[in-house]
Amino acid sequence: LSGSEELKKKYLGPLAKGDAMFSYCLSEPDAGSDAAGMKTRAVRDGDHWILNGVKRWITNAGASDYYTVMAVTDPDKRSKGISAFVVEKSDEGVSFGAPEKKLGIKGSPTREVYLDNVRIPADRIIGEEGTGFATAMKTLDHTRITIAAQALGVAQGALDYAKGYVQERKQFGKPIADFQGIQFMLADMAMKVEAARALTYQA
Ligand SMILES: Cc1cc2nc3c(=O)[nH]c(=O)nc-3n(C[C@H](O)[C@H](O)[C@H](O)COP(=O)(O)OP(=O)(O)OC[C@H]3O[C@@H](n4cnc5c(N)ncnc54)[C@H](O)[C@@H]3O)c2cc1C
Repeated sequence: LSGSEELKKKYLGPLAKGDAMFSYCLSEPDAGSDAAGMKTRAVRDGDHWILNGVKRWITNAGASDYYTVMAVTDPDKRSKGISAFVVEKSDEGVSFGAPEKKLGIKGSPTREVYLDNVRIPADRIIGEEGTGFATAMKTLDHTRITIAAQALGVAQGALDYAKGYVQERKQFGKPIADFQGIQFMLADMAMKVEAARALTYQA
């Protein structure tokens, strides 16, 4: 969305070949919905940037070779003082937390990413200084639809499971599926799943 031609040449080839993955590092322990409240800092030092901070709930952290890291470059400007950078797993000072224990989405690890005086070349900035938050939001415009699809799949799975269970479980001499109160609940679930499917496809 915003990377220079040089960055695209260097990183998108391995990505397209399936040889490397990128993770997206926006969230922090105290910056979830309020992402602009992030504290990770990037300070310019000659031809380099030095990054310090903690990113949390990062999908595929540790598995990815590359990381798009949003960091504050001008603390007075809030969202307009945030810039985006490419950080590599092999950069000195990059490390990862233990995998989070999750209820679902077990196909990918979710970990913290620690940035401890990570020194990267100045040309690893993505776009102009101060445009990182806008890039992060534009990225979400693309990726949130896939999150909707994940949630829809989980909901469909729960409905399918419930439909099986209510026929198998018997009380008062019959399957609980025969009780109207249970039928109401299943009908509501089915309606919501269908509505979510229609909305996801429309988005
Ligand atoms: C499995 C998983 C993978 C993730 N992967 C990534 C990743 O790869 N990269 C990344 O950067 N982040 C990732 N995240 C983090 C995710 O983006 C955050 O969880 C999300 O931004 C919400 O932040 P939070 O969890 O801190 O919730 P909070 O912001 O603490 O919100 C808690 C609750 O408060 C509500 N709330 C918050 N603010 C308001 C308000 N103003 N008005 C009304 N209600 C409000 C929320 O809707 C929610 O119900 C991941 C999270 C999970 C669970």
